[in-house]
Amino acid sequence: MKMEINPWLTAQKQLDDVAAFLKLSDKIHQKLREPQAIHKATLKIELDSGKSQTYDAFRVQYSNARGPCKGGIRFHPDETLDTVKALAAWMTWKTAVVNLPFGGGKGGVICNPKALSEKELEKISRAYVQAFWKVLGPDKDVPAPDIGTSAREMAWMLDEYEKITKQKSSAFITGKPLGLGGSKGREQATGLGVVYCIREAIKHLKLNPKNSTAVVQGFGNVGLWTAKFLSELLGVKIIAISDSRCGIYDEKGINVDEAAKYKSENGCLHDFPNAKNTSNEELLEINCDILVPAALENQITDKNVSELKCKILAEAANGPTTPEADRILNQKGTFIIPDILCNAGGVTVSYFEWEQNRTNNYFTEAEVFQKLDKVMTQAFNDVLQFTLSKKISMRLAAYALAVQKVADAMKAKGEI
Ligand code: NAD
Repeated sequence: MKMEINPWLTAQKQLDDVAAFLKLSDKIHQKLREPQAIHKATLKIELDSGKSQTYDAFRVQYSNARGPCKGGIRFHPDETLDTVKALAAWMTWKTAVVNLPFGGGKGGVICNPKALSEKELEKISRAYVQAFWKVLGPDKDVPAPDIGTSAREMAWMLDEYEKITKQKSSAFITGKPLGLGGSKGREQATGLGVVYCIREAIKHLKLNPKNSTAVVQGFGNVGLWTAKFLSELLGVKIIAISDSRCGIYDEKGINVDEAAKYKSENGCLHDFPNAKNTSNEELLEINCDILVPAALENQITDKNVSELKCKILAEAANGPTTPEADRILNQKGTFIIPDILCNAGGVTVSYFEWEQNRTNNYFTEAEVFQKLDKVMTQAFNDVLQFTLSKKISMRLAAYALAVQKVADAMKAKGEI
């Protein structure tokens, strides 16, 4: 497997770079280089056809040094243990960089949710909890939705956990429906957090948001809310957006609500009125001030990086830039808001959900947004100040601050 396309090797390379910068002892470095625990199971369920089928499932607990592990569960046909390990590592650094009292974890089931009925998905969700419930819990490891799962799966999983443990435990899982203790504002949280980071970057670079343009790759949860808030809160002009099938470009600006309506009516963005159709490859190369990859890993590589023209790269997706492309962008002087900071709004509101469940004190949407703004603005400016004082990249600064916090917690507990 090539170095740049295995996210786990990318995650380890990122840690190696920061360990060298922080001059971490070999003992700490090696301990942080591997997950604390990897749990595996084979889920066996009966399909609607009456046939029985097995699915490989994982829960990776990367670190609980700073608090219970925290991270989503993916249902995806191409899921791999390496991807889950990388995402669990990134969750560890992400919760540390925004100062949440959590560690990092991630889960996955190798299955194709698009080819399964609702009943079959419910069986897989419940089987996942039956397999892993002993290592999960509000003070151990708190799951959440991720690719292929949503509030619906979280509700089934919570119900299964409460049935097994015979107690009410809404803080077991986040991303739940509102009626089961979900938080207001969770749906918008990741995109809004991205926009708070971009607002701070614009201030630092002394750009005028109302004269700035943005291109957003991916028009799912994160891409849509990022585009909407960029336009509505900051007045940035959205000139191109894309989904997995097609991109659209209009230099005069795209109305995000109309694009979302068009996509839901037509299934994709192709032939959106007044816009030109464009491929995903071309989209990344459009001249713009702000580029937001909000789709998948490994979108910006050594193959296309020289064509990027943005001033700010806001990494809304996890791992969208390969290490080699990252190095080249730094040389070019592109201002990168690294993924572990940029998309931390989602886990921050997940933390608010966990907090609300434990205290039974529920916040309004306006309160959630205000608290999110405070957390993201503080974290962004901590990273920026470290970048400026040490003359290092935003990514290295974010990793250095995060990894140091985890290492300090391990040292304080006498683990190393
Ligand atoms: P989603 O499934 O809602 O949306 C993904 C979007 O990407 C869809 O519009 C899809 O059509 C598009 N897409 C897929 N393949 C593409 C391709 N090759 N080119 C262009 N577009 C493509 O997922 P999401 O929740 O919006 O997550 C997007 C990214 O953000 C992922 O990397 C995810 O890990 C990360 N992320 C999400 C959250 C969250 O709260 N949802 C939090 C942190 C990070």
